[in-house]
Amino acid sequence: MAYASHTPVIPPLDRPSGWRPADEIVPINEVSEIGANYDWLIVGAGITGLSAAHRLGELVPQDRILLVDARPVGWGASGRNSGFLLDLPHKFDLDHPDATRLRKIMALNRSAISVLGEQTERLGIDCDWSPVGKLQGAVRERGTGMMRKFCAALDKIGEPYEVLDRQSCAAIMGTEYYAGAVFTPGAVLVDPFLLVRGLARQLPENVTLRDDAAVVEFSEKAGGFAAELRLADGSTVSVSANKVILGTDPYTPEFGYMKDRILPTITYASITRALTPAERKRYTGKMNWGLTPADAGGTTLRMTSDGRLLIRNHYGFAPNYKASSRDLGKVAEAHRQGLDNRFPALANVPISSSWGGVVSLSRNHATFFGEMAPGVYSANCYNGVGMTRGTSSGRLLVDLALGRSSQALEDIIAVSGRPSTIPPDPFRSLGVSGRMKLVEWESRSEI
Ligand SMILES: Cc1cc2nc3c(=O)[nH]c(=O)nc-3n(C[C@H](O)[C@H](O)[C@H](O)COP(=O)(O)OP(=O)(O)OC[C@H]3O[C@@H](n4cnc5c(N)ncnc54)[C@H](O)[C@@H]3O)c2cc1C
Repeated sequence: MAYASHTPVIPPLDRPSGWRPADEIVPINEVSEIGANYDWLIVGAGITGLSAAHRLGELVPQDRILLVDARPVGWGASGRNSGFLLDLPHKFDLDHPDATRLRKIMALNRSAISVLGEQTERLGIDCDWSPVGKLQGAVRERGTGMMRKFCAALDKIGEPYEVLDRQSCAAIMGTEYYAGAVFTPGAVLVDPFLLVRGLARQLPENVTLRDDAAVVEFSEKAGGFAAELRLADGSTVSVSANKVILGTDPYTPEFGYMKDRILPTITYASITRALTPAERKRYTGKMNWGLTPADAGGTTLRMTSDGRLLIRNHYGFAPNYKASSRDLGKVAEAHRQGLDNRFPALANVPISSSWGGVVSLSRNHATFFGEMAPGVYSANCYNGVGMTRGTSSGRLLVDLALGRSSQALEDIIAVSGRPSTIPPDPFRSLGVSGRMKLVEWESRSEI
């Protein structure tokens, strides 16, 4: 039988995030020898792939596992996001009328936070783990309307929250920009780069990590899978594996699965340098808080514990998996303006970096979890909660592959779905770009 071979694109060497200096974003392991045969191949060392690797180490310590990533760990979305570990249902999930479903999502997210908390403590991962909760903020009427919807969803599942008015928001954030916010206590803020680097440095003994090793050819074969890897020095090596976990989020269609069902979309963030002592005196808010927008099209904002401001907003279609320099320039200007509008007294504080990051999105907002073909597993389209959902998904994909049953596995299957098909180009590009522009225009008062 002939098997189709796929030649996945190598994720681009785009502008890295500003969470850490670029000279810290280097491969963790570019030397370990790669064998020819493995029980498991995990592609992608983001939060999904790393969580799968840790789980495999727990459950099948005798198996041989190879974890590869085309870029240094922390380069991709998992190391360049806003660092919210969210416990509550988010964005599109809030629209769902079924309280049982909302509770299942919450249980999965909370279990992910507790696993990550246990891992960071046991493995000594210093990632500024901050169990400070978060604000869900609104700027104008559109946002306050959505805040009410958020409160209604929380009421439905009996979750506690506190509604803050403009002055109470200002006391925390040092800005009167927000008309109000809903505080919920369960979210944890982290430095995402340090979290994933820590998880990658502390892998179980039976996992070999090679970052800066891209899968450039992939195919199913009798009884398993074959992959060709391109290493940093340009050499190639062939490996085979019995089972494969794709922790490749937006790149998954490159491997021949979910084609025409998931879209690579990009969102952008900027971070300032740390405030100086004089700037801290001018800043009237607290340190170490985070705000997500009540309107999904709005702005995420953070003040880190070491005094850096982070801002994230804007979405786009990213068929090449990266931001153009033009878009990065436009976004950097918009982020400067966004910070100045919120913190006029800090208008002199330079942004040290602006970057884009690519995630997958489905047309019907369904999150995928499962076996895509016999022996190959993936989870995609996390809708803004990838850090917690990716953690749960990575671990539970392993459980699924090993035939282990649990309530958590039943829950994640129940709340996941099948991404609907997306029409081919040119309708795809036009439709997606048009839809995103419309969302941005509708949300303009909340950006
Ligand atoms: C700016 C920004 C802010 C965000 N903020 C948050 C937030 O605060 N909280 C939250 O929960 N989520 C947030 N997200 C979303 C979150 O980052 C993602 O949902 C999550 O990181 C996805 O994790 P993953 O491991 O599945 O995929 P990724 O982290 O994207 O990892 C996929 C990996 O696959 C590798 N890969 C792909 N192709 C190949 C190949 N051919 N060979 C080898 N390796 C390959 C890539 O190099 C990459 O490292 C944000 C995203 C962005 C961009």
